[in-house]
Amino acid sequence: MKKHSITALALFSGGLDSTLACRVVAKQGIKVVAVKFVTPFFGYELLKIQDEYIRKIQETSGIDVILKDVTVPYLELLKKPAHGFGKHFNPCIDCKIFLLSEAKKMMPEIGASFLVTGEVVGQRPMSQRRDALRVIERDSNCESILVRPLCAKNLSPTQAELDGLIDRELLLAFIGRNRTPQIKLAEQFGITDYPSPAGGCILADPILSVRIQVYYQQNKNIVPEDILLLLMGRQFNLPTGGWLVVGRNEQENEKIAGLLQPDDWLLEPRDIPGPSAILRHSSGTEELQTAASIVVRYSKKSAVGQGSAVIIAGQNDVKHEIDARPLDDAIFQPWQKK
Ligand code: SF4
Repeated sequence: MKKHSITALALFSGGLDSTLACRVVAKQGIKVVAVKFVTPFFGYELLKIQDEYIRKIQETSGIDVILKDVTVPYLELLKKPAHGFGKHFNPCIDCKIFLLSEAKKMMPEIGASFLVTGEVVGQRPMSQRRDALRVIERDSNCESILVRPLCAKNLSPTQAELDGLIDRELLLAFIGRNRTPQIKLAEQFGITDYPSPAGGCILADPILSVRIQVYYQQNKNIVPEDILLLLMGRQFNLPTGGWLVVGRNEQENEKIAGLLQPDDWLLEPRDIPGPSAILRHSSGTEELQTAASIVVRYSKKSAVGQGSAVIIAGQNDVKHEIDARPLDDAIFQPWQKK
């Protein structure tokens, strides 16, 4: 079979390893289509600048990439990943299994004969141990179709190699955490613009991941707007069960208002400059009053003084006016989720 009639579908993170994996395969004359999966935890902002991103990757790395939003099923995965979590709320093994399964589903449409990843055996403690790599290909049902070009020579030959779709001799034998071989290979390909490894996944962030984990523990039906809300503003997990998010600036105030869901309360000061806030999963009137008092606390101090302010609280099509005094910091600071 002529190599240029073969297509491979690569999982592309945008990092150096997946970039190199694509280039190593493409160098054999194989057509490589790269897919970058996005969720609010990684890559979501790219959906807004899709065309620009696709062009940039083509220019800087010579790779044709497509973006695919997999948020909804990914939110389900996070509820109970079969292989557990890493150091934070990162379900790395299940994440890879899931993304490979999604890529596998795309193969007929792309006309791909096999899948490619930039994994390197021994590079990451949880998901790139040799046994983990085996579990990932087994549980994603990709055993016969997954090529890992950067470390292929340290693994058994794949079906794609045995069938002569890709030349094993031209694949690599990277192993472990040393990045020098990758950096040298990048130089050979003339790739200079790439992000540092392992950056960018919110689920592995020591602060943001805790917030998301707590939210998951307290709520069953999680929607994308929940996660987007968790990633902005001041966050308060109120002792009565509600989740309050208070904007820190004009930009956040606008975004917060755009994330409103049915039954949310949107709180805004009526007469004085101050933040917009959403109270989600509210337990009732008393909690709404507390939320209003926090909004007053973050409103312009000179306008509030020692007195009270009116907060407009809207839920669905109903609006209330709440007269609230600023809540004492010592009371609500323990509820804040960093
Ligand atoms: S760091 Fe995040 S994106 Fe990467 S495998 Fe783990 S959960 Fe998935």
